[in-house]
Amino acid sequence: MIRPQDLASFRTVPAVKAALSRSQFDAFSRQLPLLYVILVVNSVAVAATHVAVAPAWLAIWVPLAMCSACAIRLVVWVRRRKHLASLTDEQIASRLKTTVWLIALLGVIFTGWGLLLFPYGDPYARAHVAFYMSITVIGCIFCLMHMRKAALLLTAIVIVPFSLFFSLTQNGVLVAIAINMLLVAVAMIFVLVTYYRDFANLVESKHALQAKQAELQRLSDENSRLANLDILTGLPNRRRFLADLDALFQTAQEGHVRFAVGVIDLDGFKQVNDLYGHGAGDRVLEEVGRRLLDVSGPRIRLARLGGDEFGLLVTDVRETQDLRDIGAAICATLRAPYAWPGATARLSGSLGFAVYPDAGLSPAQLFERADYALYFAKEYRRGGTTIFSSEHEKQIRELGQVEQALRHADLEREMTLHFQPIVDTLRERVVSYEALARWRSPTLGDVPPSLFIKVAERSDFIHSVTAALLRKVLATMRECDPAVRVAFNLSARDIGSAEAVENIADMIRDSGIAPDRLTFEVTETAVIQDFEQASASLDAFKRLGVHISLDDFGTGYSSLTCIHRLPLDKVKIDRGFLDRIDSDPAARDIVRSILELCRSLELVCVAEGVQTEAQADALRGLGCTVMQGFFFGEPAPFEEQSLEV
Ligand code: C2E
Ligand code: CA
Ligand code: CA
Repeated sequence: MIRPQDLASFRTVPAVKAALSRSQFDAFSRQLPLLYVILVVNSVAVAATHVAVAPAWLAIWVPLAMCSACAIRLVVWVRRRKHLASLTDEQIASRLKTTVWLIALLGVIFTGWGLLLFPYGDPYARAHVAFYMSITVIGCIFCLMHMRKAALLLTAIVIVPFSLFFSLTQNGVLVAIAINMLLVAVAMIFVLVTYYRDFANLVESKHALQAKQAELQRLSDENSRLANLDILTGLPNRRRFLADLDALFQTAQEGHVRFAVGVIDLDGFKQVNDLYGHGAGDRVLEEVGRRLLDVSGPRIRLARLGGDEFGLLVTDVRETQDLRDIGAAICATLRAPYAWPGATARLSGSLGFAVYPDAGLSPAQLFERADYALYFAKEYRRGGTTIFSSEHEKQIRELGQVEQALRHADLEREMTLHFQPIVDTLRERVVSYEALARWRSPTLGDVPPSLFIKVAERSDFIHSVTAALLRKVLATMRECDPAVRVAFNLSARDIGSAEAVENIADMIRDSGIAPDRLTFEVTETAVIQDFEQASASLDAFKRLGVHISLDDFGTGYSSLTCIHRLPLDKVKIDRGFLDRIDSDPAARDIVRSILELCRSLELVCVAEGVQTEAQADALRGLGCTVMQGFFFGEPAPFEEQSLEV
């Protein structure tokens, strides 16, 4: 079947030929006016020398008509030159063809006229005609240098009759002129053919060069497009995002306008990867890219920064509410279920914004602060939006101070441990104590563990902190009743590598403490960070004999499958659920379902953060017997603990 595009390509003059025709046309149209001028001036000169001797029609009217036609063509060509660029390849090809035939016609007419004029006048006048014909044709052939066909045709049309005619006169001078002319014509044909070949080669190589350049340009455009593109989502990548941020920053700075940098991070993406494989993870990321594009208007530029992190630039931000609306729309769309054949996943996205100029005065600072706002959102407003504020700036300063003090701290001396009892309310006895770190810095005073542990966890420094604290715990355990069991908190990094696990295991082995007196508490979020590694680390501790407890349960996004695959002994319900347990049926339902889950998996369930009798009663009513909280005892130095409830 013939398609329309096939017909179109069939009609198109091949590219190289078209380029040659265009160059010919260009060179030739510059010289053609000269050709007409030569023709007109030379013809007028011959006509003038024959006015008195030849009939009027031949000496006046015919040349007048010929010269007028030439003058008209001359004007046409001068005008045409201006529109050369706008002509199509087809138009140029057709004009070149017409020109060849017009030149041939002119050759016939002018040669005929010259030969008709020859018999009139004296020998000078006759010699003038011979001179006129030969010199004019040489001039014209020169002007047609770029039009081989026209030049050859004209040479043949003029030189052949010219040589024949003058040879037949049997006049020695004229025969000599004819021979001269023939020789010159042959030489000129040779020059012309060579010149034309070079010209055609030149055009061809220029065209090839241009084509190569165009191809190179195309490749380089494609390269830079790919270098700036995230292949999976089709969105701009991190490199492009940072370049766009730089450019936007420049224009915003010059125009004194506000804009915002946003960073989005998916909550629960890791589990999708762990549970359903990377193929499913990729699908989720593609879907996230699509959803983000759907909710972002013309003022928003999106990018995938890597992993499950996306970036956005919002131009022309006037009101903070404006950003909140954008954030709300983004978070809402990311919260909708992600379905693919056989499974459905639920994720959310947390979003941090930093606004120029409020939050920073350089692109790097803005990006850093958007990242901080995101971190804040993930910590305190999961699945929501946080806009960087002066409050956050204060926190950053504080964290910086804590980090400095911590790095210079004498951990052995400044760190201590408090112990909080975990009680079995049914048997009315303490089952173990949770060791909680305390730090009194000489410069900052008492710093809460929620703060300094977080700061230490940002780097490998946490290993030194964990080691110092574990050493103290083991020392305490060695000195007290061997019946006392202790729960010790580990951070994500402590279970993040085989090396860290080995160091901790060595310390326990070296201490001589029975490992089953120890329970390691790891938070659900720490486990989620790298499920495979965490699971391997916990297995190693378990093999050693240490018990494992999943801390802050319910705050992360771990699924049943996650819990099932971990070597757990206990689960600690996060204290956030206990606040309303005695008053809110929904909170009670959640705790009840966690308790049922623990029962079916044969895990001990600890409710932490019990502060009132009402809460303890409500928990007992649900079947929870192991509890921890201020109601039973606040964290205190070990010497202050009694082993009774
Ligand atoms: P966590 O592991 O959830 O520890 C329980 C926290 O709840 C402790 O706070 C404890 O004092 C507090 N708490 C206990 N009962 C109640 C109650 O009835 N009401 C309220 N409102 N709070 C109660 P603390 O000691 O400030 O520790 C905070 C967090 O710091 C810990 O949370 C744990 O994540 C971390 N942490 C503490 N010590 C260590 C440690 O040695 N190593 C590591 N990696 N993290 C630690
Ligand atoms: Ca804990
Ligand atoms: Ca806890």
